[in-house]
This record gives sequence, structure tokens and C-alpha cells, in this order.
Amino acid sequence: MDFSFSPQEEAFRQEVREFLGKHNPNNDGDGNVDAEEDIESYVDRLPKLFAWNQALYEKRWVGFSWPKDVGGGGGGLIEQMILKEEVGKARAPMLGLSYMGLAWVGPSIIQYGTEEQKQRFVPPILRAEEQWCTGYSEPGAGSDLASLQCRAERDGDHYVINGQKIWTSLAQWAQWMILLVRTDFSSGAKHKGITCLLVPMDTPGLTVKPIRTMNGESPFAEVFFDNARVPVANRLGEEGQGWDVTKTALAHERSSIAEVTGLTHDLDDLKQLAKECRIEGRPAIESPHIRKRLAHLECTIEAMRLNGLRFLTRQLRGEPVGAETSVNKLLRAEAEVEIGKLACDIEGSYGQLVKGSPDAVERGKWQRHMVSWPAYVIGGGTPNIQKNVIAERILGLPHDV
Ligand SMILES: Cc1cc2nc3c(=O)[nH]c(=O)nc-3n(C[C@H](O)[C@H](O)[C@H](O)COP(=O)(O)OP(=O)(O)OC[C@H]3O[C@@H](n4cnc5c(N)ncnc54)[C@H](O)[C@@H]3O)c2cc1C
Repeated sequence: MDFSFSPQEEAFRQEVREFLGKHNPNNDGDGNVDAEEDIESYVDRLPKLFAWNQALYEKRWVGFSWPKDVGGGGGGLIEQMILKEEVGKARAPMLGLSYMGLAWVGPSIIQYGTEEQKQRFVPPILRAEEQWCTGYSEPGAGSDLASLQCRAERDGDHYVINGQKIWTSLAQWAQWMILLVRTDFSSGAKHKGITCLLVPMDTPGLTVKPIRTMNGESPFAEVFFDNARVPVANRLGEEGQGWDVTKTALAHERSSIAEVTGLTHDLDDLKQLAKECRIEGRPAIESPHIRKRLAHLECTIEAMRLNGLRFLTRQLRGEPVGAETSVNKLLRAEAEVEIGKLACDIEGSYGQLVKGSPDAVERGKWQRHMVSWPAYVIGGGTPNIQKNVIAERILGLPHDV
């Protein structure tokens, strides 16, 4: 593998650095990496974040590698990697505010959408004018997503939707949902008969009920459909093609979850924390036990980074993003859990103090991280499911063991 960059690529890196020097909203030091922020501080920073999105949009750096005819940058994958690297190093926010729109809804619309759908939905994602949520999971269909029961029946040029979704992240804030429904109950094969719809969240008959988590926040919701009518023109792909659309979207979701920038920052912050906190009268960083755990984390993150380059090489060869992203998704889940535990161990008895306590270290940032573990571990598919994917689709092990 050749790790060196061409002169053009190095010039692009320089251009990105200059841009970040001017436009990074975290330059003034009042912000941190998105994933660590609680909802209140995120809302406070929104005006700055919209200005950031606009500056990126004008450079065509939101949707950097997406086709130009839908408003993307048409850029190459190496430049995209350089852009992400520099944004990560500068601790700037993510490359665009429409999180799910950019990570998997947009790519799915580009691949399966009609020309009209591409022109309608992609530009507002790039300009952060519309947020998306994802309606896959149901009370009886999570890991086994293909058993979903939420149904849509044709009535003229509309689908009439009835049923329930659960764990729908951002449902209370999104304008649109990418929704999986069953349109055919007659087929014996459960993967068949599933259809993907693009649903406005203000559709009459659609009700959102937020769910509160153990960190006190409500990042997701239950969504109920009671004769909600959606135009047939909002179908993504053909009727019954929903499973193919979802496989594409899930591969994109897992590859975005698998990125290492946030982990690298957390590791740097943990090292700093270990220099500042004391265990038995000495800086925690001098404890062999803590050093060993930090070293183990560093190795995991480096392995993930190199795996990421492996995916990139495959993409450069024109091969699709596939099951390999499950490896990093799995490693990330383990690393995120360890980061929360390690930080609280480094803090010693202060590790028990949460946000709101005057003595909480860094306003309880690491405690919030620790109780947010389901987001890292379960969101996007559980570790068991990633192991099944790795076993069957990468290692070629038999299905029934
Ligand atoms: C923070 C967060 C955000 C989420 N956001 C969204 C969202 O935006 N949209 C959405 O649709 N969903 C979302 N989800 C739901 C998530 O995708 C599901 O929770 C997940 O897929 C697991 O499904 P389940 O909860 O039904 O658990 P189950 O599938 O019931 O699993 C229960 C346990 O059984 C194990 N298990 C199940 N099947 C197998 C198997 N075949 N082999 C081995 N072990 C198995 C699982 O690993 C798990 O340990 C979110 C979840 C979280 C925690």
C-alpha cells in the first residue's frame, strides 16, 4: 500500500487547513467534538454550526464525493479522506449538519431515487435545511429487521400506512423519515415484500412519542402510523425493493459509525485527564494499569484506522462498501465502552459525580459518555449481529452452527 500523497493532494490539504483557520467554529475554543455535546449546548451553538455548514456548502465540501448534478462536490475519495483528516485534527464539527441525510439517506437516494427525487431531496440535505430520521426498528423487529410488520397498502396514488416504529433517533426534530414498510404479506420470504418510503414527519396520522434514556435525554422516539397517507411518488426504489435499499443504507451507516476521528480525540483527552488526575497520590498516567489500558485503546484505534484505509482502497478499486464495515463497528462499540469506564477509573472517587454536581470533572462529560453506551453498542446493530455478519459474510463460516 502506498501511503504518500501527490503534490496536488498536498496542495488540497493546505487549502483545507487555510479554510479551517478561517471557518472552524471551534477555533474560539467554546466547543468540542459533536458527539460529546449534550443537547442544550448543541442547541446554543446552532447558529454557528449553520454558518459552518454554509461555508462548507459554498466550497462544495458537504457531500464532497457526491455527483455534481445533485449539488455534490464530485470530489475524489483520497481528497475526501484528506478533508476528513484535517477536519478531525482541527476538532472542527462534522462535515455538514444533516447527519443521517449525509451519512446514509442521501447516498441511498442517489443510488435508488428517480431524477425528480434526487433534485428534490439531495440539495436540502447539503444545505442543512432538512433533517432526516430512520424508521426501521419495530418492537418485534430490531436485529431481525426483515420481520417488520408496519404495513402500507395501495389506495390509488397513495400508500396508507399503519403500524409502529421504535428507537427512531431524532424523530422529534426531523422533517423527513426514510421508512421501511411491508407492502406484500403473501410472500413466504420475509426479505421480499418490503418497500422504502420517504415520509414527511408532519403527515396527518403520524404521531411521535419521545423515549427518555438513562442519561436524562430523549434522543429517540416511538413513531405511530394511523392511516397515514403518503404519495406513491415518495417511494424509493421499486415496490418490494426495500431490502436492497436498506442494505446499501446500512453499509453506509456502519461505515460512518466506524470512523475513528472522535475516538482519536477521546484518547488524547483521556491521556490529558490521566496527567491531571491522581491515583494514590501520583498522576494517574504513571499507573501501569492505566497505561496498559491507554495503550490497548491506542492499538485498537490504530487498527481501526488501518481498516478504514482498507475500505478506502476497495472503494478506489470501484468495489462497493460491504460487510467489512462491521469489523470497525464492532471495535468501535468496545472502544467507546472502555473509554467511558477508563475515564471514570482515572477520575477515582470523582468518577461518580455527574453533570450538575459542582465538583464533577469536566462538567460530567465522561459520565455522560459512560451511560450513553447503548448508542455506541446497540445503535446501527448489536455486537452479536456484527459478529454474525463477520462470520458468515467475511469468513464464510456456515450459517447454521
Ligand atoms: C441509541 C440508539 C439509537 C437507535 N436509532 C435507531 C434509529 O434511528 N432507527 C431505527 O430504526 N432503529 C434505531 N435503533 C434501534 C437499533 O437498531 C436496535 O435496537 C438494534 O438493531 C437491536 O434491536 P432490538 O433492540 O430489537 O434488540 P433484539 O434484536 O431483540 O436483540 C436482543 C439481544 O439478542 C441478540 N440477538 C438478536 N438476534 C440475534 C442473532 N441472530 N444472533 C445472535 N444474537 C442475537 C442481540 O444481539 C441482543 O443482545 C437505535 C438504538 C439505539 C440504542
